[in-house]
Amino acid sequence: MVVSAALPAELHALISRHWGIEELRPLQAPAMQAVLSGRDSLVVLPTGGGKSLCYQAPAVLRGDTTVVISPLISLMKDQVDALRSCGIKAVKLDSSETLDDRLANAQEIRNGTVSLVFVSPERLIQTDLGDLFREINVRTFAIDEAHCISHWGHDFRPEYRQLARLKDMFPQASVHAYTATATEHVRRDIVEQLRLADPEILVGDFDRPNLKYRVWQRRDAMRQALEVIDRFRREAGIIYCLRRADVDRLASSLRKQGIKAMPYHAGMEPEDRKATQEAFIAEQCDVVVATVAFGMGIDRSNVRYVLHVGMPKSLEHYQQEAGRAGRDGLEAECILLYSGADFFTWKSIIERSASEPGVDPSFLTGSLKHLRDVDNYCRGASCRHAALVRYFGQDYDSPSCEACDLCLGETVGVPDAQVIAQKILSCVARVNQRFGVSHVVSVLRGENTQNIRAKGHEKLSTYGLLRDNRSEDIREWVYQLIGQDALVQADLEISEGMTVPILKLNSKSLEVMRGQREVRLLQPVAPRKAEPRGKRKDDDSLSDGAEKDLFEELRALRRRLATERNVPPYVIFSDVTLRELCRTRPSTLESMRRIYGIGDAKLRDLGDQFLKAVQDFCARNGLDTDA
Ligand code: ADP
Ligand code: MG
Ligand code: ZN
Repeated sequence: MVVSAALPAELHALISRHWGIEELRPLQAPAMQAVLSGRDSLVVLPTGGGKSLCYQAPAVLRGDTTVVISPLISLMKDQVDALRSCGIKAVKLDSSETLDDRLANAQEIRNGTVSLVFVSPERLIQTDLGDLFREINVRTFAIDEAHCISHWGHDFRPEYRQLARLKDMFPQASVHAYTATATEHVRRDIVEQLRLADPEILVGDFDRPNLKYRVWQRRDAMRQALEVIDRFRREAGIIYCLRRADVDRLASSLRKQGIKAMPYHAGMEPEDRKATQEAFIAEQCDVVVATVAFGMGIDRSNVRYVLHVGMPKSLEHYQQEAGRAGRDGLEAECILLYSGADFFTWKSIIERSASEPGVDPSFLTGSLKHLRDVDNYCRGASCRHAALVRYFGQDYDSPSCEACDLCLGETVGVPDAQVIAQKILSCVARVNQRFGVSHVVSVLRGENTQNIRAKGHEKLSTYGLLRDNRSEDIREWVYQLIGQDALVQADLEISEGMTVPILKLNSKSLEVMRGQREVRLLQPVAPRKAEPRGKRKDDDSLSDGAEKDLFEELRALRRRLATERNVPPYVIFSDVTLRELCRTRPSTLESMRRIYGIGDAKLRDLGDQFLKAVQDFCARNGLDTDA
């Protein structure tokens, strides 16, 4: 075990004993040190970075009670279940408790045997709890999802504002804030709002190397979604749509194809939403089609892909939503289906909401900037990992991430981009800059439509110039030219108050036409077919055949136990642990204890059942044990 100089050796032993974890992740050691020494702290680590352990392990070591503030009851329940399964005493205090629970919990807390108490912010500031916590002399507060306190975050919760009083209520205690939100603005806000005193600020590396990022041109969202789902059969995924209607439509089309996809959006009845969420967490459903309303409170760690059917409205949103993939650190994929039209859809939505009375004018400029940033990301021609990390203010040194469409050579520049661009721009000129994308595309394609004949556009010299290209491609290139400012989309007033979007040239268009300015157009290399999985050098993937079959059996056992105990499956064991069980196939409890995620409590509680399952499988299939 790597022992960090600053941390007591007992802490490492305790982490191994309870969590079956032998090595700390980056910044966990200093974050724990801050808790142990009672210095306020702000810890910013990406999703899946292991923030919980930073306050949980010190709480157990100190033997007193740490109070954890968490925004959602479902999150609290899962955390409490997870801690108990590791043999740690934890309770939650929330509005769902009965009076009896409340009294029993209060008594336990008073006895001083509870290591972690989870509360909602509104509950915390009620006097009875304040008194209780003072009575047992609480010295440590952990604020989870601390960005909820900031207006600038993506998930502001007014209740969190009340935490500003924490320092007055408990002047002796240290306060520790945890978030995955990478923006500087939000961080400053957290420190100010919570009035952290000379805090230790620890900001982790934001890259998520286990995520593979891809941006695909959207051609047929349904077909593309099916392709992805097919590639990840029996694995969990989230599909994000922009609108509720899209969610309903896509979910029902997928169900018609025999895929058990469940919808989730804010327009659904609360019990239907709850049903989707619970089925997903319990691994009874693997595909959720949702709006951005879905996500927080979903700690399912083995989400293997997140597919965006449309462009999100900011990179902050994208990072948050895509970040729900691969929390367990295993490989996962984030795919964004993009069309240049998404920018304009969002722009008009934003402009509409900005024109409502009482909206701060800075909202419009801020939102449009966010929109342009995410649009640039989608059009981007260099590494996606680098682009994301740099957007959040960090450096990215590696020349290739080997985990994005661009570095993997899946999206490439169109070789004759310049000529194609010139054809498109001349066509815009020929139709006198009075027509929109669709018309220009049909002229270039040489289509024989009523509209074209009526205008006599079949006689133009640009008619049919791009006859050999697909209209989706041409349309996409038009948007790419707009993105490079070599073409403009403007409004043409056709009657009083009625406008239609048309394409116009600007000075840069003329430079491109004269060959004085270079443009770049992108295109996917080939339609992606089922990609052989496990070909990655990644050493924690399973080999095909027996190992994967064993994995499915262990997963079924996990699901059964989870249902019996009414806890999420990942509270039993994570996929990482199951995979290691499949690879090593232990024959004794002793060798099982060495596996990641199996501490003493879980070994006692679950060891025999999983050992038997592994042994039975090996006997049936003539497989070696203790590999
Ligand atoms: P976050 O809150 O930062 O998104 P979590 O605290 O939920 O992340 O941790 C994500 C997963 O990583 C959990 O399954 C946790 O047990 C695991 N984990 C935490 N620390 C380590 C570590 N040092 N080594 C391996 N796994 C870890
Ligand atoms: Mg967390
Ligand atoms: Zn890359």
